[in-house]
Amino acid sequence: MKVITLGTGGAIPTAQRSLPATALIREGEMLLFDCGEGAQLQMRRAHTGFGRLSKIFISHLHGDHLAGLPGLLMTMALLSRDKPLKIFGPSGLKKFVRVARETFKFHSEYELAVHEIEGGQVTTGPGYWVEACPMDHSIFALGYSLVEEDRPGEFNLRRALDLGIPEGPLFGKLQQGKSVTLDDGRVIRPQEVLGNPRKGRKFTYAVDTRPCEAVVELARGADLLVHDGMFAQDLVEDAQQMGHSTAMQAAQVAKEAGIHQLILSHISQRYRDDKVLLQEARSVFPRTEMARDLMSIEIPLRRGHLTDD
Ligand SMILES: [Zn+2]
Ligand SMILES: [Zn+2]
Repeated sequence: MKVITLGTGGAIPTAQRSLPATALIREGEMLLFDCGEGAQLQMRRAHTGFGRLSKIFISHLHGDHLAGLPGLLMTMALLSRDKPLKIFGPSGLKKFVRVARETFKFHSEYELAVHEIEGGQVTTGPGYWVEACPMDHSIFALGYSLVEEDRPGEFNLRRALDLGIPEGPLFGKLQQGKSVTLDDGRVIRPQEVLGNPRKGRKFTYAVDTRPCEAVVELARGADLLVHDGMFAQDLVEDAQQMGHSTAMQAAQVAKEAGIHQLILSHISQRYRDDKVLLQEARSVFPRTEMARDLMSIEIPLRRGHLTDD
């Protein structure tokens, strides 16, 4: 599972930071969180392709988070896409997509479904689900988590051979968690050859928001959290007023939620040098990085016990 921060600026783009868009690529499928202006160009630069994009999640209806949608949808129509596409986001999104299609007069062959949501579990895919919750911004805004189902433990080949299990279909059955009976009548239970179940991974996207308890809960135990970190601490009142977070507040959320790694995003154009943001955040939560456009972060499989976070 890999996360690519395509656009890491906020409100106004700069030469270094495009507007909000983050891709998650997992087992041949791509999900997009926000689709700021220029998102399709950033996808080209990151060589993500468009074909495996299956779902887009829009946080809220401020222009910097969805102005890239019409262009991206039009490109996929021009590329004769035939795979269905689902878009999720707050109320008003259906109208936006409909007006864009009517105004730009593009006809898409592919099935396009827009789902207006308020929170909760919003969709599922093979081995994962996505949940959303309202955050604390100047307008209604949703944070999202992709949560993987737990995986069976690793298959111990040596142990299986030592037990005299013949290579072949019995291996597959054991891997699926089923007991098998050998020719000599012995019954082998899956736990004899499988390691402990591995907890699924979790990715949380929380942009734009003030620091809030809802995001702490949404991000609980995540491997990676991309969080609004728009300002340094000297502008904490501006952040509060505009519905954003300081880098330090984002770090506090990360700490309370017990996550593994924090990425600060939606960075204000005023920070040509953003060291101060990173320093302030790391003073609270050391495992913090600044998002950079086109940065790719691998989220490795978890190992070992279910209780082992
Ligand atoms: Zn924004
Ligand atoms: Zn906003």
